[in-house]
Amino acid sequence: MAFELNRLVRDNIRTLTPYSSARVEHVGDARIYLDANENAFGPPVGIRLNRYPDPLQASLKERIAAVNGVDPSQIFIGNGSDEAIDLLIRIFCRPGVDNILTCPPTYGMYEVAAGINDVAVKHARLDEGFGIDVPRVLTTIDPNTKIVFLCSPNNPTGNLLSHVSIRTIADAFDGIVVVDEAYIHYASRGSLVAELAARPNLVVLQTLSKAWGLAGLRVGLAFADADVIELLNKVKPPYNVSEAAQETALEALNDPRHLNETVKRTLAERKRLTEALSDLVCVERVYPSDANFLLVRVADARGLHRYLASKRIVVRDRSGLSGCEQCLRITVGTEQENDELILAIENYEKSLIH
Ligand SMILES: *Cc1c(COP(=O)(O)O)cnc(C)c1O
Repeated sequence: MAFELNRLVRDNIRTLTPYSSARVEHVGDARIYLDANENAFGPPVGIRLNRYPDPLQASLKERIAAVNGVDPSQIFIGNGSDEAIDLLIRIFCRPGVDNILTCPPTYGMYEVAAGINDVAVKHARLDEGFGIDVPRVLTTIDPNTKIVFLCSPNNPTGNLLSHVSIRTIADAFDGIVVVDEAYIHYASRGSLVAELAARPNLVVLQTLSKAWGLAGLRVGLAFADADVIELLNKVKPPYNVSEAAQETALEALNDPRHLNETVKRTLAERKRLTEALSDLVCVERVYPSDANFLLVRVADARGLHRYLASKRIVVRDRSGLSGCEQCLRITVGTEQENDELILAIENYEKSLIH
């Protein structure tokens, strides 16, 4: 069946009259703003935070559009990409009726956001090498599957998914295919944003939380066909991205030097850390990574996790995930942090001998 956005959207969302803020209704540059019950005397802090922010983030979108070679109408900006994940589920999935599909082991938020919305989750496991099992995905999809979530590079496994496989799924499925590219700046292959024009059912998520170094700011991006973006704008809280976040994000995007430099350092450290960890006796496997973290299989994940925690070094124990048995997920830190991590694991090994 062919993709048809209007048929896919929940009825209550299609017919919804969205909240309309005074600031959006007024066209042109006003002289005096007495429409939004703000404090006209100003804020108690530096920047102009007494005014509500631009609900559609025009300046920021213009900049993001230029950087990514898309039209501003193809961009949604959220309070983190987690907001886009939640909104997409709410737009397309009827609670208690529809479902989403994920490919575990993968990012946990798809499942949590579905659970909050009373939307079921179908699973099509990644294959042995953590690649997409396309036949398994296509046979797991049922008539109530509305969204397929793919994560590339995948968290926590670190690998990129095949573009050919993603295209095959997007072409065969009449629902939405979300590709989460939170770690794309660390990857050896480019973004799928370039393919949006040819695929009206594709949504690409990115974020300022990782390579841009702004996790505390909460700015996430969704790139998609303008009709899908319009739906996201319709259901989002009107002022979901704060003025402080919009201004800071714009400042960051205008100067990509920090991004480029820290990505370069992270990639060099990823290589060094991979080699150093591979030399350790307790490390059984360091999986190849296209992200800023390493999935590492060790002899005793819980034991090592606990030892590192006692040295106040926090890594993520992923050994509870099927397919990630005895695995820790370790973020690539600064040069010095990585040195300390390696030293601590060496000491852990010594402590086991004694
Ligand atoms: C970190 C991460 C995100 C980022 O979420 P934000 O809400 O933008 O901070 C999204 N997807 C994956 C897979 C991640 O690992």
